[in-house]
Amino acid sequence: MLAVSPKPELRVWGTRGSFPAAGKQYMRYGGNTSCFSVEYGGCLFILDAGSGLAVLGEQLKKRADIRGIHIFLSHLHIDHVIGLYPFLAMAADRQTVQIHLDERSAEGGGLSRLIGRPYWPYSIGEAGIGLSPFGPGTGLHIETDAGVVDVSTMSGTHPGGCCWYRLRFGDKSAAYLLDCETGDDIEGKLTDFVSGADLLVWDAHFAPGKVRKGWGHSTWEDGLRLRRKAGAGKVLMAHYSNDYDDAFLEAQEAEALAVSEGGCIFAQEGMVIGL
Ligand SMILES: [Zn+2]
Ligand SMILES: [Zn+2]
Repeated sequence: MLAVSPKPELRVWGTRGSFPAAGKQYMRYGGNTSCFSVEYGGCLFILDAGSGLAVLGEQLKKRADIRGIHIFLSHLHIDHVIGLYPFLAMAADRQTVQIHLDERSAEGGGLSRLIGRPYWPYSIGEAGIGLSPFGPGTGLHIETDAGVVDVSTMSGTHPGGCCWYRLRFGDKSAAYLLDCETGDDIEGKLTDFVSGADLLVWDAHFAPGKVRKGWGHSTWEDGLRLRRKAGAGKVLMAHYSNDYDDAFLEAQEAEALAVSEGGCIFAQEGMVIGL
């Protein structure tokens, strides 16, 4: 349930990677694709628009007090934008939604071509949603009632490219790193980017030992290593492969918790994490 909160909290609306997963074997960790939110200073900051955005959109109907909605897209793979389709009808009544995306995702109509005719009866423009493209590495600054939220961006490692975010809410910060394939070439820069963050949202698509090189994803072990190197607070594992049902993820979670020295969380839909 979306509710007013005095301190920044991250809410989990979608945990699954690549494609939504239906079935009772996915109920515990969830079957919707990537979507997370933080409410701050009368605004809602949404990270990715996976199928979890449809659930968030339903909750938003009861929240006329939220004046600004900012959606940050990591990239245009369908699991990160599929929730925009049902969200458009709700957004059309509000006129306060802004989508922030890397200029490569806006190029040549990018997102606008994907959402609209002939694929969907509504276009982003018709829903009154604004698009704010930015260059790789640009810093964004968003006014809220509780002060400015600073958003840092970094080009990520993923087929076709992606954008990673770090958002600062007062003295707390969260980094969003979906989708992400770690490696020696990026790890130093990535460590600097997330240094000292309170929360890392991490790509744990593959279980350790099952990584497919070049697919653009990582493991929970990679996330724990980054946390240690960067002196970060907690790591939230997400973007689980559809090959992994609840029983498999439970076993992975137990293994990770045994070696994580605290600060490791396996995301479940509906979870709320204080920053
Ligand atoms: Zn993805
Ligand atoms: Zn992707």
